[in-house]
Amino acid sequence: MKNTEQIWDLVDAKRQGFLDLSDRVWGMPEIAYTEFKSVAEHTAMLKEQGFEVTENYCGIPTAVMGEAGSGGPVIAILGEYDALPGLSQEANIAEHRPLPGNGNGHGCGHNMLGSAALLAATALKDYLAATGQPGRVRYYGCPAEEGGAAKAFMVREGAFKDVDIAITWHPAAMTKVDEALSLANTRMDFTFTGRASHAAAAPHLGRSALDAVELMNVGVNYLREHVPADSRIHYAMIDAGGVAPNVVQAKATVRYAVRSRDVVGMRALNERVRDVARGAALMTGTQVEIKVLSAVSNLLGNTPLEEAMYQNLMRLGPVPFDAADREFAAKIRATLSEQDIEASYLRAGVPQTSDTPLCDLVVPLEVKGEPMIGSTDVGDVSWVVPTVQARVATHAIGTPGHSWQITAQGKAGAAHKGLIYAAKAMAGVAVDALADPELIARSKADLAKRTARHPYVSPIPAEVQPPLQPRPAAA
Ligand SMILES: [Zn+2]
Repeated sequence: MKNTEQIWDLVDAKRQGFLDLSDRVWGMPEIAYTEFKSVAEHTAMLKEQGFEVTENYCGIPTAVMGEAGSGGPVIAILGEYDALPGLSQEANIAEHRPLPGNGNGHGCGHNMLGSAALLAATALKDYLAATGQPGRVRYYGCPAEEGGAAKAFMVREGAFKDVDIAITWHPAAMTKVDEALSLANTRMDFTFTGRASHAAAAPHLGRSALDAVELMNVGVNYLREHVPADSRIHYAMIDAGGVAPNVVQAKATVRYAVRSRDVVGMRALNERVRDVARGAALMTGTQVEIKVLSAVSNLLGNTPLEEAMYQNLMRLGPVPFDAADREFAAKIRATLSEQDIEASYLRAGVPQTSDTPLCDLVVPLEVKGEPMIGSTDVGDVSWVVPTVQARVATHAIGTPGHSWQITAQGKAGAAHKGLIYAAKAMAGVAVDALADPELIARSKADLAKRTARHPYVSPIPAEVQPPLQPRPAAA
C-alpha cells in the first residue's frame, strides 16, 4: 500500500527546520574535504531526527551516514554540502557583492541539495515508523562533489554494496528528470624532473622540465583532432619551474583533466595522454611522474526510476513560486545575457515562448534538450546502484552554473520552495519503491543490462586516497 500524500505531509511537517539548515550551511561555505562545520550541522540533524549515525564515514571526516528502519529494501538518499571558491556573494540582491571572508560561496546550490535530501530521508524514516512497513532509509552526506570525487571513493569502499536504489536531485533553472548525461573524468598531475643549470653559461648541461610541459601541451593539442568529438581535455600549470629565466627549470608540473563520454573511452584516452607525456620526457631528456588525483565515471540512467520520478513531478506540478519569487528572479534575470537565457531553454529542450523568469512547467520526460555536459561523482553510484536524479527549479531561468547569481539566490523564497518540492519528489519515488518491489526489480534489471558489456571498475587506482584536509584548530 502506498500513500504519497502521507509522506508529502510528513515533508511539510518538518519543512522549517530544514530550510533553516540549508540557510545555515549557505552561511558557512566550505570547499572540498573542508566541510567540517557543514557536516556537523547535518550530523546534528540526523541525531535530532533519531537516525543511527556513522560519522567519519568511509574514513572521510566530512562524510556522514544515517540509517533508520528495519528489514525490507535499502533506499539511499544522497546529499551534498560543499561550496566553491571565489563565489562568495551577499544573499537576496541582484548585484555582484562578495561577502568579507574566505571568498567561498554556495555557487552550485549544494546547501539546498543536502538539506532537501536529508528532509526526504527524514520524511521516509517517519513514514516507515508511521506505517510499520519494512524498509530501511539511508542518508549519505557526501562531501567534495566539486572536484573531490568523494562518492567515487565511497563506492570503492563498498558504501553502497547493499543498497537497492539511490535517489538524489540538483538545484536547477528548469524542473525535470535528470537526463543522466555526464562525462567520465580523470584528474592527473604530470611532474617532469630534469636538471638545473646556468641557462647562458651551460645550457647544454641542463634538461628543462618546463620544455617538457610545453611539449606535452603541444602534443595534447595535436591529439585533440584525433579523439572522439565529445572528449574534453584541459590543463593548468601548477608549477612552471620557477621565476628565473636564467636557470634551466629542473622541475615542473602540469595538471590535466581528461573527460570522455564513458569510463571505457576515458581509460583509452588517459593512456594516449600519458603516451604524449612520456614522449615529451623522451624529447627533453627528463623523467615524468604521473599521479592520478581523482576520477569519476559517467552517469548511467535508469528508465524505470526515471519514469517513477516523472510521475511524481507530474503529480506535484510546477514548483509553486509566488509573485515575490518572480520579482526577485526578474531582477537576477536583468544581470544575465540573452545567450544565458537562451541556453537554459536549449538545454531543457523547451521553446522560449513565455517570458517568466522562473520555470512554471515540468519538462516532459520524452523531451531531449542540448544538455551542458560536465562531470559528477553521482556517476559512480549510478554504476553500482539503480540511481535517479531530479532537477528542480530553484533559481532564475538563465542563471549560469557556478555563478555569483546562484549564491545570491540560495536563500531566497524560490530556493526554499524548490528545496521542499525536491524533498517531496525524492520521497515520492522512495514510497513507490517501497510499495512495489517490481519497481526495484525492474530498475536492477535495467542497470544489469547497461553494465553487461563493461562491468563497473573503479576509475580510481587502488593506491590513490581522497585528498583529505586537516581539521582547523578550534577558534
Ligand atoms: Zn553541483
